[in-house]
Amino acid sequence: AVRVRFAPSPTGPLHMGGVRTALYNYLFAKKNNGTFILRLEDTDQTRFVPGAFEYIMDALAWCGISPDEGPGVGGEYGPYIQSERKAMYLPYAEQLVAEGKAYYAFDTAESLTEMRERAKTMKMPNWQYNAVTRNSMQNSLTLPADEVEKRIANGDAYVIRFKMPRNVDVRFEDIVRGWVVVNTNNLDDKVLFKSDGMPTYHLANIVDDHTMKISHVIRGEEWLPSAPLHVLLYEAFGWDAPQFAHLPLLLRPDGNGKLSKRDGDRLGFPVFPTNWTTAEGELFSGYREQGYLPQAFINMLAFLGWNPGTPQELFSLEELVQAFTLERVGKAGAKFDADKTKWYQQQYLRAADKTVLAKELQTLLDTQYELSFLEEIVEMMKERATFLKDMLVEGDYFFAAPTSYDDKTVRKKWKDNTTPLMEEWLERLSSLEDFSAENIEVAFKAFLEEKELGIGAVLPNFRLLLTGKGMGPSMFSIANLLGKEECVARMEVGIK
Ligand code: GLU
Repeated sequence: AVRVRFAPSPTGPLHMGGVRTALYNYLFAKKNNGTFILRLEDTDQTRFVPGAFEYIMDALAWCGISPDEGPGVGGEYGPYIQSERKAMYLPYAEQLVAEGKAYYAFDTAESLTEMRERAKTMKMPNWQYNAVTRNSMQNSLTLPADEVEKRIANGDAYVIRFKMPRNVDVRFEDIVRGWVVVNTNNLDDKVLFKSDGMPTYHLANIVDDHTMKISHVIRGEEWLPSAPLHVLLYEAFGWDAPQFAHLPLLLRPDGNGKLSKRDGDRLGFPVFPTNWTTAEGELFSGYREQGYLPQAFINMLAFLGWNPGTPQELFSLEELVQAFTLERVGKAGAKFDADKTKWYQQQYLRAADKTVLAKELQTLLDTQYELSFLEEIVEMMKERATFLKDMLVEGDYFFAAPTSYDDKTVRKKWKDNTTPLMEEWLERLSSLEDFSAENIEVAFKAFLEEKELGIGAVLPNFRLLLTGKGMGPSMFSIANLLGKEECVARMEVGIK
């Protein structure tokens, strides 16, 4: 059975890359009738950020990605928060020690720093705790057994390190990257269990993936360097390793480096699904607060690293589930494209239900309006807006008479004969019994014909008087929506 997990650490807000990992895991699970698990990896107490967990849950919920098992959801393999599983990990680490695959190390942080400093002066900038160096360190491989026992009984601080074999090629087949081969000489004796009584990410991750029966590990490329160690740990425990799929990096629009939260702010687009305020009070904007629809965000994100192999670009979450395969995830870094992101937003805004949009528009307004009035505005403005809030700026005239008139239109279109002409058109309008858009249009065409004028001589000025703008949706629909009385009043004010 397919069982996948999204395993964020509560060290800060979810970045786009994190949401994409969650999304691909979710899509893969749903496509294969599998289970999508959320697991919180909070064993690094020094990096814990208050509020981050709540943020992650909230951001996923906004995206419509809901876990089948996880904190607050439950499931057979819980608890799903690592700090609540704390007692589980030490026996596993000790098992490896007993089998000679790991060892206790007593070296203090200071002595390790000193070691590295000394190595640097001896032109060894990449000093590692490994098969070559571990013999000269303070650990259960070098100290006599009774001394080790005494230190532990004494309560001396120790860590448990993995005994990385020397000069072995570790191989595994990654679904995205193909065969990966790494020689263990490039790896160090990673700490599995820390002196604070907590497992490290590596140990907890492997124990949990195994005990939670995870079938596929789908995660960001930044974890690829850890994968060989993980493969060796599965081997050491005698467990079958899950299949790995490491997702390509998200790159800046210019392709220069990873997309970071700083870039997001500098380049003028959000990288977080929802707003995040740092402990220092610095605000990073989110897609939700910018006015993006979650479907647009998800659709855009799905395409950062994956494509369906067809020209189709618009996919609902359900359609993504049907179309998604890991085989179509690319190796190359995916460049974020701000324009494309806006384009998705426009498509979803256009397709959105008018009643839903009208209700949301109401929440942005101070005054209460009739729903049907807002629905008509939404219908008229949707083609010209990217965000719902644009309608309030572009369509401010629906809510109040114009207080200024578009300069360029005044200069180009308001001629000497325009004033009497508009006065006549005003008279014509005020005498209309039926003020429907169709009827206003009929009257308008008749007026043009009678005056032997082109549309450009009257319509822009009509728009100017009612809206103050040089462009916008159909004037006949606008006039109809504003109503005769309001139109007459605005024209009288404007003509003067
Ligand atoms: N806790 C890791 C993270 O924060 C999980 C990496 C993995 O999926 O193995 O991304």
